[in-house]
Formats: sequence, C-alpha cells, structure tokens
Amino acid sequence: MGRRMVVWLSVLYLLCHGIALVLLPAHALPVSYAFLIGAPLLAGLACVWRGRRSASIVGWVAMALGMGLWAAGMVLNMYQEVGRGNADATPGLSMLLYVLYGVPLTFAMAHPRQEPWYLSLIDALLALLLGYLFFVYTFSFATLSDAGEDGIAHLRLMFDVENIFIAGFALLRWRASEDPSRRVFFRTLCVFAWVYLGVAAYINHVETEDSYGGLGDLLIDVPFLLLAIMALRPSRGSEVRVPRALVMAVRAGSPLILALSLMVVSALMVREHPYLAVAGFALATVGSGLRSVLMQMRSFARQDQLDALSRIDSLTGLANRRQFDQSLRDAWERARRSGQGIALLMVDIDCFKAFNDRFGHPAGDQCLRLVAATLAGCAVRSTDLVARYGGEEFAVVVASTPLEGAPALAERMRHAVEQLQLPSAEPGRPVTISIGVGTVPRVLEADPAELLAAADAALYAAKRGGRNRVDAGGEPG
Ligand code: GH3
Ligand code: MG
Ligand code: MG
Repeated sequence: MGRRMVVWLSVLYLLCHGIALVLLPAHALPVSYAFLIGAPLLAGLACVWRGRRSASIVGWVAMALGMGLWAAGMVLNMYQEVGRGNADATPGLSMLLYVLYGVPLTFAMAHPRQEPWYLSLIDALLALLLGYLFFVYTFSFATLSDAGEDGIAHLRLMFDVENIFIAGFALLRWRASEDPSRRVFFRTLCVFAWVYLGVAAYINHVETEDSYGGLGDLLIDVPFLLLAIMALRPSRGSEVRVPRALVMAVRAGSPLILALSLMVVSALMVREHPYLAVAGFALATVGSGLRSVLMQMRSFARQDQLDALSRIDSLTGLANRRQFDQSLRDAWERARRSGQGIALLMVDIDCFKAFNDRFGHPAGDQCLRLVAATLAGCAVRSTDLVARYGGEEFAVVVASTPLEGAPALAERMRHAVEQLQLPSAEPGRPVTISIGVGTVPRVLEADPAELLAAADAALYAAKRGGRNRVDAGGEPG
C-alpha cells in the first residue's frame, strides 16, 4: 500500500466520522464511539504489521499492546455511557486502561536492544509494578463505575505526567538512535506521543466536555491515524551519525526510564498510599541496581574475552607479538630474581617467499597454521610459550630449567616440521624450518635485548649454514 493511499484513507476515516456525526445526530454517541475504538485498533494492527517486518519487533508489539489497552478503555466508556445510559460517569476502569496504555510504551523505551533475557525480565517486572501502581492510584480516586470530579483532577495530573514522560523520552531515544529500524520506531513513537500529548492536554484541560459525541471527537482520532500512517509507510530508515557520547549515554541510561517512571508515580501517591510509595521507590532502586550489577558482570566477562583475544594471533591461534613481549619480560624478571637462566628459540620457515610464490598466499597461510600447531605440540611444558613473532617467524620462550633442554626442544621442533612432509617450492623437498637458540645462563641485565640478539644471531647462522637446522651457538658474552 502506497503512502498516499494510506493518508487518503485516514482523511476518509475522519470525514466519515464527521459526516456520520452530522447526519446521525440521534445516534451521535454510538457512532462516535465506534470511530474512537476503531482508530486505536487500526493503529495497533498497523504496528503489528510493521513489527513483523522490522528488527525492532519488541517495540512495535509493545506499541500495539498500548493501542489495544487504549481501545479497551474506550469500549468500557461506551458500555457505561451507551449501554447503561450514564453519561456523567467516567468509569475508573477505563481511566485505568487509558493510563496502562503507557506501560508497554515505557517498557519499549526503557528496553535496550539485544539484551539477555534476565535483564528483559527485570524490565518487565518493573513495568508490571508500574502498571500496579497506576492501578492503585487510579482506584484511590475512582470506583469501577465512577471517577468523581476531584478524582478526575488527580487522574488528569497523572495523565499529564505520563504523557510528558513518554513524549520526552521518545524524543531522546529517537535523536540518540543510530540503527535505522530503531530510528524509524522511535521517530514514530515520538511523533505519536507529542500529538497525543497535545490532544490529551486539549481534551483534559480546554474542552472539558464530559461526554463524547461532538465534532471534537475527531481530534482524538488524529494521533492514532497518524500512528497508522507512519507504521504503514514504507521504511526509509537510513544510517545516521549521532555523537558517540549521546548514543552511549542514552543506551546505558534508558533502563533508568522505568525506574524514574516508578519513582514519579510513587511520589504522586505518597500521600494516599505512603507504604506503597516507599515500596515503589525501594523496588525502583533495587531493580535498577540489580540491573546494573548484572550488566557490570556481563561487561567484565566481555572484557575478559576481549583481553584474551587481544593476546592471540588470529591466523595461527598462538600467542601474538604483544603477548610474547609481555611473557618474555615476565620470564626474564622471574629468572633475574631467582638467579636462573632463560633460553629463547627463534624459528623461521625456510624459503617461505618461494612457497607463497609457488602455491599462493592462502596455501601459505595454511602452511603457517600447520607449522604453528606442530611447534605448539612440541612445547609440552607449561612454562614454555610459543608465539608468532611476525610473518613466518615464531619465537619460543624456554623458562624451564635445565636450559640444556632448549636445543633439544629446538631439534624436536625442526624434526617434527620436516616430518609433516609438506611439499615445498623446491620439488622433492618438504617445508622445513631453521631455529636459532639463544641462552642466558644467569640473568643479570635489566632487559632481555641480549637474549633476543643472541637468538637472532643463531638463527642467522642456521640460515647461513644451509637451513633446516638448529644453531645453538648464540650464547652471548
Ligand atoms: P629464508 O629461508 O631466508 O627465511 O627465506 P624466506 O623466503 O622465508 O624469507 P623472507 O623473510 O624473505 O620471506 C618471508 C615471506 O613470508 C615473505 C612473505 O610473503 C611471507 N609471509 C609473511 N607473513 C605471511 C602470512 O601471514 N601469510 C603468508 N601466506 N605469507 C606470509
Ligand atoms: Mg623471515
Ligand atoms: Mg623464512
């Protein structure tokens, strides 16, 4: 359905409503009720339709639920006024439903996307509590069938507070959303909420006519028809650049919307229901506190994961250069304190450039992975660390004593790689590695530069000596 078509249908809806009121003055009341119930229901259906096509389904469904509650309030009003002929009474139950309509909307605004279920559960419980407070507050001024003048004044205040809350936060969330589907959702909610706020303020404070059935009813259709138009129109969401600080602040702070709503409603009812108000405050505080604790735990766990990832080489799964530098410094420091020695193996694949040239880079990567796994398989002691030093070079920190084991370990590694029998660029010969072993029998210096230089020199010697060999002659001094 095109956008124009939806707009015309909405105008037609308003026209029909108006014409029916003018042509059927004797039946103005039921006719108007039918239109007033129809508008939010249509808006709700449009939201469901949109939700099924949107990534922000939770929000759209919550909005549809809100529309359903509002329509139900209207149905009760109609039952009271048309069915029982009591035009003066505004039933408390329908008042309650008009207020409750805001609970799913508040939930949708407070709810960040992609959250674990237990956080959504806390939000849902807080939203239910908010609904309960609305319920108690409404019925402290109204009975099931009548709200009374004084009661209506209190309830109007509650409506105003609720409407301003929803409109304000919807605006904030719209401006702070980057994701296209969320932007469309919050923009829709925002426009609806502001128009609804205006219409409700007008109906509640300016045109205080008690009964329905006048042309003023057309005004009430407007926000709902607008919502239907916006929900049905083709999505034109696009990526928008929003200041990072705003995005993060709103993302982190939006769960507070529920807690704040609870506190405001608790404050409103502190005189009539002091205990419940205190409970509302306490639960809002505990709920959002619990939420923060759980979020914090989650972000600690994520941080740990990221830390681990930042120390791993993504191609081979070995420790990366950063982790190597750290481990070497640590091992060096330990050896210095305990007066022990330390060894370092520098491993380099022979003629790897030719391998890449012959078999291609992806095959080169696969070769790197196999060699890495083989080296790691040879270093069985937990004190030995195998790392990818860079390119096709690997390094092994040997902190285990006695250090005579280091050349032996190097020889095992060389042999194991040769035994892989990976075809090399040179026909009839497998892929091989050269290893330089640097050893410092007693650590005295402050930094491991000498150890690195020794291992490097030994590797150079191994290459010069013909490759596929271990050179352990790199002991300095
Ligand atoms: P030598 O026996 O003297 O070590 O010869 P070489 O060809 O192995 O030495 P050189 O350092 O000249 O070449 C290293 C090659 O390793 C060059 C580069 O293309 C390749 N290389 C480095 N990192 C990677 C990588 O991540 N993947 C692949 N496929 N190749 C890499
Ligand atoms: Mg190299
Ligand atoms: Mg090489």
